[in-house]
Amino acid sequence: MNSGILTEMTIDDVRALAPNVAVIPVGSTEPHGAALPYGADTWQVEHVAYGGTRRANEQGGRVVCLPTLPISLNNNFRAFPFACRMQVSTFMALLKDLVMMCLSEEVRRIVFINGHGGNPDVIRAAQRDLAAIDGVHTFMIHTTTCASEEATAVWEHTSDHAGEEETSQMLYLRPDLVRNEKITDNPRRYPKLESLHEFAVDYVRPWHLYLPTSAGGDATKASAKKAETVFDSAIAGTARLLVELSQAPDSDTFPY
Ligand SMILES: [Zn+2]
Repeated sequence: MNSGILTEMTIDDVRALAPNVAVIPVGSTEPHGAALPYGADTWQVEHVAYGGTRRANEQGGRVVCLPTLPISLNNNFRAFPFACRMQVSTFMALLKDLVMMCLSEEVRRIVFINGHGGNPDVIRAAQRDLAAIDGVHTFMIHTTTCASEEATAVWEHTSDHAGEEETSQMLYLRPDLVRNEKITDNPRRYPKLESLHEFAVDYVRPWHLYLPTSAGGDATKASAKKAETVFDSAIAGTARLLVELSQAPDSDTFPY
């Protein structure tokens, strides 16, 4: 069985698969509080990207998944040690280079699967630039974009970093790396300027001011079972997207 996971394939496998869709998983390496490891985002996104690719190819897709990028955008984490980061211009160039490589292999449908909250603006900007090239179709989803609402209803406490969701995901994926005794309700802080709450003002949050411990929200209801429910749904949904992209005929009006 041809998995589509490039790092696991031989050159004969790649030629036999003749992929027409490429997946680029984008992870991150930055602190996730006292309970979770730095690599959380990377393991999470890789689980869905690899799982979705395998499932898509079992269902008749021709999808290749590139290796997961472990470093992305974390300038706002720099008060914490070794929050791995690169500049926006470097990241953008990296994404575009990978897309150009796919084009040179005649793969024109490319799906970024993003696992880190700092990245979407720049991935979208790369998509805008790449739209200048005829015949290139890039798409972006996040780790659990394709999970059903029914599945994601398991979350009891929302958090945008290292809360119930990410703690559950790591309890499922790498329980050996979770410091169970450190799982807690981590404080979140909000700016004193009221208008920043009241209006949808965009600004880059200095993470050490927002989440002093580098984790935020109540993670005490985290469980591996919740993550399994959401991951299974996300993998099934991601596979559906990839199969549909792979099986859609070439046309001047794709995807319309
Ligand atoms: Zn994370």
